[in-house]
Amino acid sequence: MQEASRAIMQDMQILRKSHNLQSSVSVVECYVCGKGLQDGHSITAKTLPNGIVLFCDVHYSLQNINIPK
Ligand SMILES: [Zn+2]
Repeated sequence: MQEASRAIMQDMQILRKSHNLQSSVSVVECYVCGKGLQDGHSITAKTLPNGIVLFCDVHYSLQNINIPK
């Protein structure tokens, strides 16, 4: 009985680790407003001099004005 519950706890730890790994990779949100796919926005990646940033459909067209080079 104890061995069985221990095995279940190990399974849960594995699930939790893989979930954290997935969520850290799949965070996709706008660099300006923080909204993402879950808010109904489409996200586009753009390479800037300071790195790759993500913009929603609204801020993607404004990025050249808002982000200094
Ligand atoms: Zn935005």
